Amino acid sequence: SGGRRSLIIANWKLNGGIDLMCTSIATLVGKEFDTDIAVCPPYIYIRDMLSLLHHSEVQIGSQNVSKFESGAYTGETSAEMLKKVGCSLCLIGHSERRQMFRENNISCNIKVKNALIHGLVPVLCIGENAEEKEAGITKDIIFRQIDEGLKEIQDYEGDVCIAYEPVWAIGSGKSADPELAQEVHQFIRKCLKEKYGAGFAQKNRILYGGSVSRKNACELLEKPDIDGLLVGGASLDPEHFLQICTQC
Ligand code: PEP
Repeated sequence: SGGRRSLIIANWKLNGGIDLMCTSIATLVGKEFDTDIAVCPPYIYIRDMLSLLHHSEVQIGSQNVSKFESGAYTGETSAEMLKKVGCSLCLIGHSERRQMFRENNISCNIKVKNALIHGLVPVLCIGENAEEKEAGITKDIIFRQIDEGLKEIQDYEGDVCIAYEPVWAIGSGKSADPELAQEVHQFIRKCLKEKYGAGFAQKNRILYGGSVSRKNACELLEKPDIDGLLVGGASLDPEHFLQICTQC
């Protein structure tokens, strides 16, 4: 799509353990992919996964990152730490974090900048909830999430990634219709263009997330503005995730 290499990310959330780590590694290592592949396990597994994935193309990302650089912030993990250990990217502002951990566009913006400063690709998650969709304000919500979440990043180098994840589609089994998803992705690209120019909008990837499975992955990836997928539930089955990564 637009010459951008697709990116498929597994988001394990608060799931899995040593078993899932080992079976995922065994399933993914030694395979060749036409797309970029990343796994975001719970923090505790990041280091082991990175060493077991040595020499593999599979990247590791975190599910969150601290707003802070260092100091008295119990329980936090900084962008610098994640980068130094070998992570490539970090999810920022996942809807579960917005809903349950008080993340908002302002905290997301700080995290996006922290990621960029330290050379991690921020994957900013955005999307409307069911009421907002019902009220017909999807585009207003998304415009705001981009405008505020990506505020004043023009002086930072590095790629940025957007994950469009309609909240009603996450974990519900009700994926967005590919046509509808494409329409929103096209709108997101327009927002990126208006904010930071055509080059920025052209090079940066926009992923779709929300009940992605082997059944709908290819149809979504065929759309011109869908540059990859963020996969939750289906990524907890390594064979299923592998199929999503290789079948299209
Ligand atoms: C997610 O939470 O990032 C997600 C896409 O979940 P699921 O695939 O389970 O809908």
